[in-house]
Amino acid sequence: MKSIKDLDFSGKKVLLRVDFNVPIDNEFHITDDTRIQESLPTIEKLVNDGAMVIMMSHLGRPKGEVDPKYSLAPVAEYLSKLLNRKVIFTQELLGDNVKKMVSELKPGDLFLLENMRFYPGETKGDKALAQELAQLGDVYINDAFGAAHREHCSTATIASFFPNDKYFGFLMEHEVRNLHQLMENPQRPFTAIIGGSKVSTKIDILENLIPIVDNMIIGGGMRYTFTKALGGKIGNSLCEDDKLDEARYLMEKMKEHNVKLYLPSDSVVADDFSNDANTMIVPSDQIPDGWESLDCGPDSVKEFDAVIASSKTILWNGPIGVFEFPNFSKGTFGVAQSVAAATAKGAFSAVGGGDSVAAVKQLGIADKMSYVSTGGGAMLEYLEGKELPGIVAILK
Ligand code: AMP
Repeated sequence: MKSIKDLDFSGKKVLLRVDFNVPIDNEFHITDDTRIQESLPTIEKLVNDGAMVIMMSHLGRPKGEVDPKYSLAPVAEYLSKLLNRKVIFTQELLGDNVKKMVSELKPGDLFLLENMRFYPGETKGDKALAQELAQLGDVYINDAFGAAHREHCSTATIASFFPNDKYFGFLMEHEVRNLHQLMENPQRPFTAIIGGSKVSTKIDILENLIPIVDNMIIGGGMRYTFTKALGGKIGNSLCEDDKLDEARYLMEKMKEHNVKLYLPSDSVVADDFSNDANTMIVPSDQIPDGWESLDCGPDSVKEFDAVIASSKTILWNGPIGVFEFPNFSKGTFGVAQSVAAATAKGAFSAVGGGDSVAAVKQLGIADKMSYVSTGGGAMLEYLEGKELPGIVAILK
């Protein structure tokens, strides 16, 4: 797979799929520009090469029709200020005028098409729309990792019209390389730390990881479904009673594959779901009625640290406790620190999923991890063992 780093796109019309799906408030201000910032290296490379860059993105879920609330106009304006250069934009959809504007682009020009999801064909992966879009460019580059799990027109279908001229942007390349290293060629021991509130949303990941990892740490609210399945007393802690059999099945599978399971031995329990609740520390399988676990306890933090410290590959997805409440953040932050320390000693660490990424950013240690994924849903689907249409479309 060629990297765009080694190619020169001067004079080429490049169709660039980016992920500008940023949060915008009621006054059309962008409240978090992370995704725009992450697209800059690829955009700058193309502009510096002297390409004519035609950017495509979605924003929100406008249901295949024009909805001014989801216009990319504020993004065009923001990007223009950020780069200190004009970003050509029109709210018109693809038609004669847009085609004319594209045909008049000069090397180094940036053009942002209106929200791809204003077209009914986008989310259906429509071939005719893909073909019409493809006619605008000579080359297709996908840099929208956050949308790589979608088989949409601008993320996947369009690539087939560029059999010899389709590439990953820098962000996609970074994600694909790191995910590949994590899942295809991990150094051992490989420890997965999976947390979050619900086991139901993590079953596919756990099942896919079991044959690959050596150690599995399960924390967060989902852990109590496992504890109950083992016959423990969990008080009022989170539990999905309809998933008890699945929890037993997963633990059986771990045994079959010699995966060592680590569940927090102690828990910080609270008499209310609040930061100011009364608390005590109890063994995780002896939680009294009327009390719910909102974090793991100090012994668990130490136990996890020992496992993480001896690992060569670490994957972390999902918080260990309700870390949004400062009084219940020690488990999550403890794991974050342990992963950072193991990484400093040479382990390869991957962090993914909105909450775990938020936790390492809150601690200011995101740069101490080997790899922090930018795509929540896309990374999850990769970890579940699914092929991501946005990746496959470029590689096949
Ligand atoms: P998820 O979206 O399933 O990954 O879960 C993330 C959420 O799990 C975060 O908002 C955490 O506050 C929450 N969480 C973590 N541990 C617990 C727990 N022991 N009880 C309830 N919620 C939890």
